[in-house]
Amino acid sequence: MLRFHNTLTNEIEEFQPLNDKEVRMYTCGPTVWNFAHIGNFRTFIFDDILRRYLKFKGYNLLHVMNITDVDDRIINESAKRNITIDALTTPFINAFWEDLDSLNCERPEIAPRATEHIGEMIKIIQTLLDNGHAYQSEGSTYYRISSFPEYGKLSKIKFEGNITGGSERVDTDKYKKENARDFALWKLVHENDPTGWDANFGRGRPGWHIECSAMAMKYLGETIDIHTGGIDLQFPHHENEIAQCEGATGKLFVKYWLHGEFLKINNEKMSKSLGNEFTLREILGKGFNPLAIRYLLLSVPFDKQLNFTFENLSGAEITIKRLHDFYQRLRETYLCDGINFDFQEKTKIFLRDFEEAMDNNLNTSVALAVLHKFICEVNTAISQEALYTKDRTIILEAIDKFNSVFGIFVETKNEILSTEIETLIEERKIARRNRNFARSDEIRALLYEVGIILEDTKHGVKWKWK
Ligand code: AMP
Ligand code: ZN
Repeated sequence: MLRFHNTLTNEIEEFQPLNDKEVRMYTCGPTVWNFAHIGNFRTFIFDDILRRYLKFKGYNLLHVMNITDVDDRIINESAKRNITIDALTTPFINAFWEDLDSLNCERPEIAPRATEHIGEMIKIIQTLLDNGHAYQSEGSTYYRISSFPEYGKLSKIKFEGNITGGSERVDTDKYKKENARDFALWKLVHENDPTGWDANFGRGRPGWHIECSAMAMKYLGETIDIHTGGIDLQFPHHENEIAQCEGATGKLFVKYWLHGEFLKINNEKMSKSLGNEFTLREILGKGFNPLAIRYLLLSVPFDKQLNFTFENLSGAEITIKRLHDFYQRLRETYLCDGINFDFQEKTKIFLRDFEEAMDNNLNTSVALAVLHKFICEVNTAISQEALYTKDRTIILEAIDKFNSVFGIFVETKNEILSTEIETLIEERKIARRNRNFARSDEIRALLYEVGIILEDTKHGVKWKWK
């Protein structure tokens, strides 16, 4: 039974999507004013594990991840460089997909850009103005928090009584607002400002939060199953998304909120503003394997903090190499025909324990411990010549299932070919047994052409690259 920690209820809950076998999930995507850092990628790898595991559990997944291609930082940066927003963001969007690919993360089904959904944002703002959840002041439009008594239900911050007070930072347009905590839905821009859009309620540009409400509801409907993001987005971003959506529709916006904990460095949050970040590109430039970065970032459950060090990364690099060697050894070692029933049982237990760990709020560290224990058992059996061809098939299938979620074993040229090669070698064996030497020679020649030499050994036929 799949269970998640739901930030909304602050409880571990059984996962039950709105429609039986369908999951509609929204993720706050990158702000594309720069290359993403590995802290960002910790959250995106968590999303990847979640999406792969939902599919493993048999759900049909529709996953939307937005691209934030307009915000103050983007506007300032493009003005500083004297280029359009599009010219600034396009290379970073492309880089983001490349980075995600190199970390072996699947891409979401839909990746909408904020600048292409301004019309949808305007519509929601108009509804909020019409039903009293929003008001205008000096040309900008604000959300009236006092009109939404449930405000704070996600972050559990109590606002009653001191809605204007508190020690938190109060933004610069506080004097234009009815209440210091009200947030901007639409910010006034001047006539000749290039980054502006026309709306009934004036020319402006969207506030920080409205884009996610607009894109989530456009592609996934008014109530969605899962919403994810880093923990820093819980307040105010996600609290404001709820206020906007539920204020506009009167319906529950999200059933399960899942938040990824921070990647830290020297026990501080990794962030561009603190200047302590490493982009993925910087780390790859130092010669690290992207799968080692993936392994390290997923090795701690998503709801626990992780402190990044280069020693940990070097450790992950060694582990990835070991996994790779194991995979290769398992596929290529000569095994006698037959079956060791013990291994059928061990493989079942491996898959059962893996699923149990992941069902428990995606406990990736327990799942990896289960994998390492199983690998140890398989290695011992290989060394003791207690593993047979049928065991290999079952074990490989089980590892492939594990890997469909973790994505840490990647096939190399050797491995891609070896199943096909084995089939041909098997066919050649049969041909020889039937004294069909013509076919046997044909297969040898065929393999030679693709660069493979067959060797007859006392254990049977082996192959190697030319
Ligand atoms: P941004 O590009 O700033 O909008 O952030 C993209 C995602 O990365 C968001 O879900 C953030 O919450 C997340 N994020 C930012 N910094 C970290 C960090 N140090 N550790 C984990 N996730 C982070
Ligand atoms: Zn968002």
